[in-house]
Amino acid sequence: LFITFEGPEGAGKTTILKKIVERFQEQGIDILATREPGGSYIAEQIRQVILNPAHTEMDARTEALLYAAARSQHFAEKIEPALAEGKIVLCDRFIDSSLAYQGVGRSLGINEVYDINVFAIGNKMPDCTILFDLEPEVGLARIHAHSEREINRLDVESLAFHHSVREAYLQLANKYSERIQIVDANRPIEVVVEDVWRILQTSIAK
Ligand code: C5P
Ligand code: MG
Repeated sequence: LFITFEGPEGAGKTTILKKIVERFQEQGIDILATREPGGSYIAEQIRQVILNPAHTEMDARTEALLYAAARSQHFAEKIEPALAEGKIVLCDRFIDSSLAYQGVGRSLGINEVYDINVFAIGNKMPDCTILFDLEPEVGLARIHAHSEREINRLDVESLAFHHSVREAYLQLANKYSERIQIVDANRPIEVVVEDVWRILQTSIAK
């Protein structure tokens, strides 16, 4: 079972992922927890190139291709083998991030970005995606409250950019309504964790 967590900055994806992984482990379930961009040595190197705040001249197509390249390596090296072993894979961001951020945020087009991702990973899509939906204002305020967070190239983007990404995610959730479940991320972490856990139990039972 391939599960992905999606949503804007500050939605709590990483924190909640850790808590969900603990719950699976308590049940003795074998799980691979991973993240994008990154998740493997080469893909983490690509992450450094993409997110470096000094790389202000990066072209949007270059950015989309680098995300796809990192995903291809991470998928082939880590995700596919784990799924083949029957593990549950839980990934912090995946293809929907590219469709929302590069497809809509960077105006490259959802279909165009989808196509380069099909080249990168074939037709393999997650079985279940949790969309942590949140007002960009709330997410950005949460991030700024955490001063230890690394600065990245996205930090200079306008509120309008983040609103367009949110709308894109909601549009994707509508298009892939079987796969993507929306969770209201503007609630205490423990409450959101309970919701996510319940959704995942249902999709495991299917
Ligand atoms: O989720 P995480 O904070 O690790 O993401 C790193 C940064 O990369 C975030 O600012 C996120 O918005 C950005 N990103 C992006 N396009 C993607 C994936 C992530 O702009 N496809
Ligand atoms: Mg995170």
